[in-house]
Amino acid sequence: MPHTNSNAKTRMTAKERVIERDLRAIKLPHDTNGRYLRVSQYYGENTFNYNKAKTIPEAMRKELQQIAREGGKLKRELAEVVARAATEWALEKGVTHFCHWFQPLTGSTAEKQDAFINFQDGEVIEKFGASQLMQGEPDASSFPHGGMRSTFEARGYTSWDMTSPMFLSEGINGKTLCIPTAFVSYHGAAMDVKTPLLRSINRLNKAATRFMNMIGEKSIRVQANCGAEQEYFLIDKAFYYNRPDLVMTGRTLVGLGTTKHQQLEDHYFGAIPERVKAFMDELNLELHRLGIPAKTQHNEVAPAQFELAPIFEESNVAADHNQVTMSVMKNVANRHGLVVLLHEKPFSGINGSGKHVNWSMSDDLGTNLLEPGRDPHTNHRFLSICAIVVEAVYRHAAVLRASIAGHGNDHRLGANEAPPSVISVYLGESLANIYQSILDGTNFIPTDKKMLDLGAGQLATLFSDNSDRNRTSPFAFTGNKFEFRAVGASQSVGFPLTILNAAVAEVMEEANLLLEQEIKAGKSVEDALFVLTKKFISNAKKVIFNGDGYSKEWLKEAEQRGLPNYKNTVEALEVLKDTKLTNFLVKTGVLSEQEITMRYNVLSERYNTHREIEFRTLLNMIYHQILPSGILYKEQLSTVIKNQKEIGLESSVEVEIYKNLSSAMENLFSKARNLKTSLDATASVAHHKKGEVFARELMPLSELVAQYSNEMEDLLPDCLWPLPKYYDMLFIR
Ligand code: ADP
Ligand code: MG
Repeated sequence: MPHTNSNAKTRMTAKERVIERDLRAIKLPHDTNGRYLRVSQYYGENTFNYNKAKTIPEAMRKELQQIAREGGKLKRELAEVVARAATEWALEKGVTHFCHWFQPLTGSTAEKQDAFINFQDGEVIEKFGASQLMQGEPDASSFPHGGMRSTFEARGYTSWDMTSPMFLSEGINGKTLCIPTAFVSYHGAAMDVKTPLLRSINRLNKAATRFMNMIGEKSIRVQANCGAEQEYFLIDKAFYYNRPDLVMTGRTLVGLGTTKHQQLEDHYFGAIPERVKAFMDELNLELHRLGIPAKTQHNEVAPAQFELAPIFEESNVAADHNQVTMSVMKNVANRHGLVVLLHEKPFSGINGSGKHVNWSMSDDLGTNLLEPGRDPHTNHRFLSICAIVVEAVYRHAAVLRASIAGHGNDHRLGANEAPPSVISVYLGESLANIYQSILDGTNFIPTDKKMLDLGAGQLATLFSDNSDRNRTSPFAFTGNKFEFRAVGASQSVGFPLTILNAAVAEVMEEANLLLEQEIKAGKSVEDALFVLTKKFISNAKKVIFNGDGYSKEWLKEAEQRGLPNYKNTVEALEVLKDTKLTNFLVKTGVLSEQEITMRYNVLSERYNTHREIEFRTLLNMIYHQILPSGILYKEQLSTVIKNQKEIGLESSVEVEIYKNLSSAMENLFSKARNLKTSLDATASVAHHKKGEVFARELMPLSELVAQYSNEMEDLLPDCLWPLPKYYDMLFIR
């Protein structure tokens, strides 16, 4: 049959293009003799780190490190030296521009590029000094500020974050030096993700270092670590641009599932398709040159879904690196004719994408505070620090939930493949049992029936063998770290990390007071730690859950336990308006009340805007592509029916299809009209109310629309369907 629908024709051409695509080959790094370079030889070549810059005198580097660690004012001379060294380094690499790179509350990153050139005595020279390095002045009023700033007061500042290395962003025809910065308003309010993250890191550092010192460790510093496992989908660019929903909203708003999807469980860890491997190899190369420690890659559960995990790093650097990773992924994919989908739920009916945030604390001596050791002291330390984290999550579950709220994640949390929207902690059987016996005042007997001896390294052995992988928990202990799995694939890890650090810092500070008291009262360090462990676990035990987080029974039980369950973004964000719940952020100095309000306003407005874009895109597709295709098919059917009637033949099949199509189209049309009317009626509704209407009424309505559209897709011949199908996008590459 000829393509009688020009939209469908585009789709067919796209398919042909994709099938014929060549693999993109790149030249691997090599020396002048043509010998391959090792990764370690080019790792980090696109970052400038004053710690490693030989052009900066040793004494100055030490001074810089100290300021980066402990805060304090950076002397102008010192900044001048760094600026000069960075400029020399960059110019040698052919860099022409620099920018202050920051993370406004849009969820992505922002930059304004300036050329290095300047006039001096009528001549053009390259110039970049301390003032350009240390401070920038973007037009703050154009970034989300949640009504906090009026536009006439448009000044905001970006200031150099000394703790995250500068890096190059490379286009094929030019390079830019990106300087990681924090972004604050004229009055010093945090307008970005990084500022509160840095505050939370400092606060946690102080509390945890004091804790370590009090129990006799010589730590000078404790840092929070993060390893963010990034899940994503890859589809061909030709399909992507034929799907207005993917382009406008990042997810398919309609689409009939395929006969085979993930039920055979054959994609997870399966052989990586060649074209995808070509993409991954180039991506790794770019990331390694940027000093981003990409480590693990594999197929994920759903077709066309993959994962990338880096080696963990200090959490501020890890948060920056994850943002850079997401943007490099997009660029590299484009070179391979692919598009990376970072949305939490690009396709319905198959798994969505998360970002597992692995989190731990370690000190400057290399001790992981969440690692059980081989002697009673380290084991008591481990049990109490774990208890502190459990208490922190229990106490601040609501705000942790709010920190991962977002329109995309709503499709994932609580669906039967991702962690539930109830925040609970998985400890694994062994650890949970140890805590239970501590509460009961009994001795813990591990499975080998020998009594647990904290002095014999049994604890460490228990966890090194502990391969128990509960994938249904939003917050799981996995041997020597916690894994916050409820974070969405597209989200910045900065905000959830901020909340987690602040929550742990608050409980750690209380623990410090308690320790001090107990030790003063004559208890040994181990006994004092035991008191602390018992106190926090007995308080927080309700949040511990080792069972199946996907089950309905758990939701019921969680409710009985009094654990909060905020089912969607609108409900979860309300938490940010409850000062009783957010007070710990103010108390720890991580966010002021005003800064919290600003986040509430920005996030809830963003939810509404995203949903509205989805609804309008859906309606456009229905009116301009889907219904017209149905009308075309009806025309073809009626011609056949008429012709057959003329020559005296029955058309029972055609009539049946016609009737079914008519009924699907009528339903689709009427639901779409309802959606449009209801949507238009919200135009003047205040934004917090609007969110409620969107989540409660319009979302289910839009899902009904999608359902009728899918019915139509099922009735229309392949050559008339205007949109790339799930089959095309997920299986052709
Ligand atoms: P998986 O969960 O897929 O089995 P791992 O748990 O070994 O894999 O590692 C996943 C991520 O956790 C990686 O990014 C890794 O670097 C990170 N990770 C490992 N140890 C720690 C730690 N102590 N603190 C924070 N992240 C860690
Ligand atoms: Mg993991």
